[in-house]
Amino acid sequence: MEIIHQTPMMKQYFSIKADHPDAFLFYRLGDFYELFFEDAQIVAKELELTLTSKNGKNAEHPIPMCGVPHHSAAIYIEQLIEKGFNVAICEQMEDPKATKGLVKREVIQVITPGTYMAALGDKENRYLVAVTNHPLGYGVARGDVTTGESWLTTLPTREAVRREMEGLLPNEVLVSDERLKDVLAPLGIPLSVQTDRIDSDLAVDARDEAQRDAFALLYAYLTRTQKRSLDHLQPAVAYEVEQHMQLDANTARNLELFRSARSGERKGSLLALLDETTTAMGGRLLKRWLEQPLYTEGAIEARLDAVENLLDDFMLRDQLREQLKYVYDIERLVAKVGYGTANARDLVQLRDTLSRIPDVRALLQAVTASRLRQIDAELDSFEELAELLHRALVDAPPISTKEGGMIREGYSSELDELLEAKANGKTWIANLEQQERLATGIKSLKIGYNRVFGYYLEVTKANAKLLEEGRYERKQTLTNAERYVTPELKEKEALILGAEEKSCTLEYDLFVALRDEVKRETKPLQRLARSLSELDVLLSLAIVAEKRDYVRPTTAKHVQIDRGRHPVIETVLGRGEYVANDLTLDDSRRMLLITGPNMSGKSTYMRQFALIAIMHQIGSFVPAEAAELPLFDRIFTRIGAADDLVSGQSTFMVEMTETRQAVTEATEHSLILLDEIGRGTSTYDGMALAQAIVEYIAATIGAKTLFSTHYHELTVLEQTISTLENVHVRAVERDGRVVFLHEVHPGKADKSYGIHVAELADLPADLIDRARSILEHLEAEPAPDEAKRETRPTSETDVAQLSLFEKSDSLTDELLALDLLAMNPIEAMQALYALQQAAKKG
Ligand code: ADP
Ligand code: MG
Repeated sequence: MEIIHQTPMMKQYFSIKADHPDAFLFYRLGDFYELFFEDAQIVAKELELTLTSKNGKNAEHPIPMCGVPHHSAAIYIEQLIEKGFNVAICEQMEDPKATKGLVKREVIQVITPGTYMAALGDKENRYLVAVTNHPLGYGVARGDVTTGESWLTTLPTREAVRREMEGLLPNEVLVSDERLKDVLAPLGIPLSVQTDRIDSDLAVDARDEAQRDAFALLYAYLTRTQKRSLDHLQPAVAYEVEQHMQLDANTARNLELFRSARSGERKGSLLALLDETTTAMGGRLLKRWLEQPLYTEGAIEARLDAVENLLDDFMLRDQLREQLKYVYDIERLVAKVGYGTANARDLVQLRDTLSRIPDVRALLQAVTASRLRQIDAELDSFEELAELLHRALVDAPPISTKEGGMIREGYSSELDELLEAKANGKTWIANLEQQERLATGIKSLKIGYNRVFGYYLEVTKANAKLLEEGRYERKQTLTNAERYVTPELKEKEALILGAEEKSCTLEYDLFVALRDEVKRETKPLQRLARSLSELDVLLSLAIVAEKRDYVRPTTAKHVQIDRGRHPVIETVLGRGEYVANDLTLDDSRRMLLITGPNMSGKSTYMRQFALIAIMHQIGSFVPAEAAELPLFDRIFTRIGAADDLVSGQSTFMVEMTETRQAVTEATEHSLILLDEIGRGTSTYDGMALAQAIVEYIAATIGAKTLFSTHYHELTVLEQTISTLENVHVRAVERDGRVVFLHEVHPGKADKSYGIHVAELADLPADLIDRARSILEHLEAEPAPDEAKRETRPTSETDVAQLSLFEKSDSLTDELLALDLLAMNPIEAMQALYALQQAAKKG
């Protein structure tokens, strides 16, 4: 750096900045945080702040600078964090007024996307994940500093790590080596390579060294960045991926578990539908339940018992919910207390929450389900703490902890005396005003206060001459008035201000002592938070079950769903509009091949089943009249239909990669949904693959499989694969038009309604007529499975003829298969373009 920058302050800046190359350094300078050099340039741009120069714009080597006021810095910091940046907060460690020369400064915290203390009441967890590459496997430690929770697991491959991260979408990831970084970089999550490790007792539950190693990486990072007590961190919970139903990110997206595919919003997702939670903690827990549905019958039944118990008792449900409305986000409150950032309002929220517990417990006396009985037993109302908080804090304290107004009268006699002295002083001053008006005869005389001069008597210029000489001491002259003081007034002022300062300091000390008192209860309060969240989630599931008319599913060996519904679509269409359907699967009938025209409801039927299975395994009631279901270890989905074009990412390679995942990783306990596989390539190519996939699953996996297809030719597989059966979604023709019934029936669909749909979409009549005649022509040809699958071309001419035939056939097929109603103009253009390209190729 040029010599010109080497003022003592800039030297200090450089040495601090050198320790924090990956963070914007918020350098405290009086009432501002200032940023310099590149930090300033980037931040000014990101936050639209004015970029200035520390040494003047015209300096030979201007130092770029921008700043934010310290009292409103939080909002700027949050914006930077949400954009994925890190911020190092550098404070003045001594009082500048009391210091000669350069003030000592230190970074007191580095805030990163994964460690940001998100707002109370947020229904999303904030995950910081550490992944280490250990000989035993990939250790994964996932923590949420805002709640103090963490989890550990070990994954076998980098691919599994990528999938896990894709599913979790953490706020920040730490990895132990560059190769992991390369694998995860495409996810676009803030990511860094870290090497420091600190062992911690919190990892007692770790199952192996890989997990311990990952936690050590996480813990070292937290220690280094947060630079404060981490007492609120709870022991990490180890889980094995096998304990849960595994859902990868792709499946979660296809089934719209957390976000709607169309809008990308939470609204329209299964989560949003199930979320009737009242507390933010419950909202976060519900999401975690959905991220990791159970795979153990006992745990599922325990939840279902609890939901049923709450469902059966309307009064109980209603009253519990009413109580939970007053339960605040104590999980995060406790974390703030641990961090030393909780204010009096936070403690009042805690107090109000605690005061509800006795009522909650009283209500729970009526429950019988064992999980609820257990929750009741775990609830502690912390009477002493609640009473202390009640005695100590006023009902509506200010946000600031430094300006008094927090402590209730009667809690501290010392404080009460100070406040009384202050009040007396103020009364005395108020009386003085009256007194002096009488004495001087000046009715407009008044007493005022400002920060610079303190208390003063004010008299208008016109009246000033009425004052007797020497009555007051002149202090300040304004345009229209004179301001005076008296020795007595100054004396009272000193008393008031002294009392005020002392009382504020005292209040702050009392408050901090109180906060420390709460901090001592960190662990039990976190247990309380856990129990309340679970109660909230169970209640939410009961409320949804009641509101949506769901039924309790039974765990069985087979699948028998009577009149099942798609939970989300039925709410969009209205219950009366939605056509319910049955589904039966067992060991002799493991696969369904679903045919039916476009828009008839094939995809919906498949997804509906997967959603019902997931709901069962989180312990929820399900949208059906009756449901018997086995436990699924994983759900795989491959949606190859037009549905996927919406997201613009359907390439045939993606389709095949996802299929590979399903056929290599599924077990006989898995559920596989393959929706119109093979659509991304030419007809025969796609059809051959589709058939091979079905055969492979049937022969070597045995997973329960729903397979929808627009290849009617595949329906013959029913004859050769004993565990496969055809079903079709019915549509009927009325007056030359298609009417979709959305009813699923045994057997294959007998006719393609593509042309009718095209007609519905008002394609030109000539075109429709032409399509009809082509179809007739094609139907007159031998069926492709007879004609070509068996026969091998024998001569050059045969090959040429065959490929010609194939081309026109496949083009027509593709044209017919276009789901015009579901396409927007751009998609239609793309499809047309692809057809034209294919035509040119031949
Ligand atoms: P396909 O996959 O056969 O092309 P979809 O499953 O995408 O058809 O369904 C198309 C539309 O039909 C859905 O968006 C929905 O509005 C409606 N639909 C599907 N199934 C049903 C049903 N069971 N009851 C009522 N409407 C349905
Ligand atoms: Mg479909």
